[in-house]
Amino acid sequence: MKIETALANDTPVLCRLIATKPPNEIYSLNDLVNHVKFVFQTAEGEEIDLGGVKRWPNKWPLHQTYTYKALNYSDDPKLQPHSKQDRALVVAFRQYQLYLRYIKFRRERDPSASANFRFEWTHDLAVFGGNRYVLGQAYLPARDPLNSQFSGLIQINDNWLWGIFGKEGAAFLLQLLIHELFHSLGYHHDTLHLDSVVYPYANGKLIFIETDKYRIWSDYGRRLLPMWIVDNIIKRLINGYDFD
Ligand SMILES: [Zn+2]
Repeated sequence: MKIETALANDTPVLCRLIATKPPNEIYSLNDLVNHVKFVFQTAEGEEIDLGGVKRWPNKWPLHQTYTYKALNYSDDPKLQPHSKQDRALVVAFRQYQLYLRYIKFRRERDPSASANFRFEWTHDLAVFGGNRYVLGQAYLPARDPLNSQFSGLIQINDNWLWGIFGKEGAAFLLQLLIHELFHSLGYHHDTLHLDSVVYPYANGKLIFIETDKYRIWSDYGRRLLPMWIVDNIIKRLINGYDFD
């Protein structure tokens, strides 16, 4: 489908992280990284042709605090206790919070409350267009993201075995979250910079490069914090201190 058509009809568009081999044939993290790509599709699995549109036009309104929450939890052994999965969300959002000025994020702690950004584990392959090679997916924002059931929704395939950093062959949750959040805010892939968090192949990168920052700053504003605070948070992320 042409992306202009999808946009005109406000068709939900998502980025799917897809492996080129089935889960039981992937034995190591390197193997996984070499066989994973990110693809834009419709919910039904039809590929979206990005030609023509350089920039995703829909964004979230400014000057708001957006909430996020886990809708449920995975029972994968490397993600226990469940609070570790909440921590992964906090860590993924923290970098966005660190750099963005006109939108803020807050973890929703009330189990009965809804949230703007929702993370759902599922074994249901229908959610992934019936493709068991999909590891996870996120929807790009609709024209009116605050009144769309798909905007801000990130879904993860729990048929795979997950770990926070993807050590020992488990799929890498934190990279998936940081990559997909970038789309959730209304951005395409960066096909030019190999180290970008939205490079369309799994590259293991968690930290925004300058071009990533400039893209989100252009819409959501640049937050200026003392350098030592920024350095400290980035260092924690790189070294995995948040999960000790
Ligand atoms: Zn993507």
